[in-house]
Amino acid sequence: MSTQGAMCPSAPWQSEGAQIIGIVGGSADAPEVTYLKEAVSPTAELVERLGDVAPEEVFRVAAPCAKSSCMHHDGHHCSLVTRIVEAVPVVFDRLAPCAIRATCVWWAQEGREACKRCPQVVTHNHRANELMTQAAQPPVRT
Ligand code: SF4
Repeated sequence: MSTQGAMCPSAPWQSEGAQIIGIVGGSADAPEVTYLKEAVSPTAELVERLGDVAPEEVFRVAAPCAKSSCMHHDGHHCSLVTRIVEAVPVVFDRLAPCAIRATCVWWAQEGREACKRCPQVVTHNHRANELMTQAAQPPVRT
């Protein structure tokens, strides 16, 4: 896949071109994202309704890959999804319908192995388990 138009599936809410692609459900200890059939643009009204809750705690947001501006980008690839696939267990053995698969950076890099782990990813998670916390640690740049 060309990286032009490539979408990061776990992006900050404020990113330019951000789109909501899923809703975080499940429990605090075992979150499970339900993907939307179509991505939805975030609105200020939505944030207002969330009150003190960070949007990234309850929504999965996709946005154009920030490439080298992102702490997880190693110059060529997204190191985050590589670590997730290496360290985090599968939670879903089918391909969930996903609005951004055609342009998803994680899908392009890791294919089904990314999608099988993706539903447990919460971009802003205060209660992430140890494996996910380790996977989320960006590489040390020298
Ligand atoms: S990894 Fe798979 S399920 Fe997750 S956003 Fe990308 S295409 Fe969708």
